[in-house]
Amino acid sequence: MDKIFIEMKNVEYKYKSNLEGKPAIDSINVKIDKGEFVSIIGRNGSGKSTFAKLLNAILLPTEGNVYIKGIKTTDENHLWEIRKSIGMVFQNSDNQIIAASVEEDVAFGPENLGLPREEILKRVEKALKDVGMQDYCKYPIQNLSQGEKQKVAIAGILAMKPECIVLDEATSMLDPLSRSEVLSIVKRLNKNEGITVIYITHHMEEALNADRILFFNEGRIRKSGKPEDVFSKVDYIKKAGLDVPQITQLFYELSQEGYIDYDKSILTVEDGINAFKKILYS
Ligand code: ADP
Ligand code: MG
Repeated sequence: MDKIFIEMKNVEYKYKSNLEGKPAIDSINVKIDKGEFVSIIGRNGSGKSTFAKLLNAILLPTEGNVYIKGIKTTDENHLWEIRKSIGMVFQNSDNQIIAASVEEDVAFGPENLGLPREEILKRVEKALKDVGMQDYCKYPIQNLSQGEKQKVAIAGILAMKPECIVLDEATSMLDPLSRSEVLSIVKRLNKNEGITVIYITHHMEEALNADRILFFNEGRIRKSGKPEDVFSKVDYIKKAGLDVPQITQLFYELSQEGYIDYDKSILTVEDGINAFKKILYS
């Protein structure tokens, strides 16, 4: 089977209301493999959400082509297949919630696939278990916290058995604990079930979990690489209006002052502690 899951070739997207202005997505060429975990970072308005919507044909490119498993997103005969294989989770799951109870909500997708009742029940049970919400199946959705609602939204998508999940700032309204829980769920699904993950975030520390970071600016992918390679361009990233992880920033500044040699692999607090230990005890 082909390893490439998503491919964009010279993709441009212009919103109808702004046909004369700069495109929201501008000459993007990118390939994303099946099973990859990709984080997308970039300041507000850099095109991240537009990119996400081009993936499952909510939007169609105004130039170029988007391919999912080799199928063009403009191919209406395969629209359902594309929509089914790419699940989207947005910032505010309130807009995505349809039914009254947790289990009804999660069942909505598979019901639309026309699956037999038994299969639906099986999928709902597994999906709720995957996100740690199995004890809430009868709960009314409005009683859930924001974090719990996001987990239910993810379960609803898992019940469709997607090959890829796109999370568009899905954790940005959550408290730090729920945020890390949602991230662990997504990481586990990626590792254990091989689900391709596109994780859009404005938390640089979250982006560190990815195999690859795509850095967006003004509708273009300006950098693409491993977290350490993208975040080692500290000045470039900051000039483009974003931050690098705090520890990276600290070690970068210390190296600029001449205290230590710059080491791009220092990204997390743990990396920082280890590096300090080495300096202090060597
Ligand atoms: P991001 O998700 O990175 O904040 P978006 O993809 O939402 O960026 O937006 C990219 C550009 O497209 C911005 O200039 C934004 O103002 C514009 N844009 C987004 N949505 C619309 C829309 N529905 N109509 C017109 N312009 C839009
Ligand atoms: Mg956005």
